[in-house]
Amino acid sequence: MNRDKIISQYEKAKKIRIYCISAMCSIPFAQYLILFNFINNLLNIFLSTITFLLILRIYNKNWRCPLCKEKLPDRDVSKIDYCPKCGIRLIK
Ligand SMILES: [Zn+2]
Repeated sequence: MNRDKIISQYEKAKKIRIYCISAMCSIPFAQYLILFNFINNLLNIFLSTITFLLILRIYNKNWRCPLCKEKLPDRDVSKIDYCPKCGIRLIK
């Protein structure tokens, strides 16, 4: 895989990560409000939790090095320049 492709995949992963964070904050809550009048409250909380966990799964699964597929560190994305596992440079 060439460097440009690796960088663009990393950029894409960064975008998905940000979308997932906003989705985790809004979708389970919106879902709860929409279903509020239709289903049992406990079931509603349960379904919202499931939705939250599904998004969290995408969030974690997506956050990998494009080259070695190793999970990237869970800290500030702007501080990740290299993959800690294989050492590939992830920014231009
Ligand atoms: Zn790597």
